[in-house]
Amino acid sequence: MAKVTTAIVIGGGIAGPATALALRKAGIEARVYEAYAASADGLGGMLMVAPNGLNALGVIGLDEAVAAVGQPIARMVMADSRGKQLMELPGLPGLPPSRLMWRSDLYRVVRQAALAQDIRLEHGKRLIAAHDQPDGITAVFEDGTTATADILIGADGIHSTVRKLIDPGAPEPRPDGLLGVAGESDMELPVRSDAMYFAFGKRAFLGYWVQPNGRPAWFANLPSQAFHVD
Ligand SMILES: Cc1cc2nc3c(=O)[nH]c(=O)nc-3n(C[C@H](O)[C@H](O)[C@H](O)COP(=O)(O)OP(=O)(O)OC[C@H]3O[C@@H](n4cnc5c(N)ncnc54)[C@H](O)[C@@H]3O)c2cc1C
Repeated sequence: MAKVTTAIVIGGGIAGPATALALRKAGIEARVYEAYAASADGLGGMLMVAPNGLNALGVIGLDEAVAAVGQPIARMVMADSRGKQLMELPGLPGLPPSRLMWRSDLYRVVRQAALAQDIRLEHGKRLIAAHDQPDGITAVFEDGTTATADILIGADGIHSTVRKLIDPGAPEPRPDGLLGVAGESDMELPVRSDAMYFAFGKRAFLGYWVQPNGRPAWFANLPSQAFHVD
């Protein structure tokens, strides 16, 4: 193929629109195809974007917008199940703090940036097959439609169809025997607002912190029969 000018990006989560924005900077026009019919606004839990992630977002001009929706976390405090502090891990010297945010806020920032640059995001397009030809690649969607471009990029998450199409023998993700749950609380917690706390038990751990609105948030990874692995 002489020169790549067009791309199909499969998956309209975080990585898909971010990839399309990066491709735009390289002069490649990408269309993003997402399986779900509706956007994922308001869905998902919390995640932390580390300094290297913010750096990567800086390449597409989104580091400041993403940092703005995140709570700076400068240290992590580890304790045992009785509350005895085991260690405190500060951030890395010379680097900005990690930012803790709702996945939905990160999703919104990246998606809105892509839409603002007129990148096409098509919903209800679940990739089921791809046909490689000498002059490009054609994606086949569950609704019977197709799209053709110079290249196809998989940004379709942990159960990636693209990965299976490229390598049907690729290892599948495996359950690790833990079930993650998370929530918010109305408790008053006398802890620092720039730290994330962990309490480790024998078979599970709890993570918690106080959000800028004063409400504690938490998550726990619990052993689960439903996800038991021998
Ligand atoms: C509980 C939890 C905590 C986490 N904490 C952190 C953290 O602190 N820091 C961190 O960096 N990461 C964290 N992660 C991981 C992070 O959330 C993921 O790495 C990130 O969301 C992956 O983004 P993505 O765009 O690659 O995939 P996704 O967000 O999964 O998006 C993939 C998209 O592709 C679509 N899709 C799938 N199949 C097809 C198909 N066949 N055709 C078309 N579209 C398709 C899906 O509908 C989806 O919209 C956490 C994850 C979990 C579950």
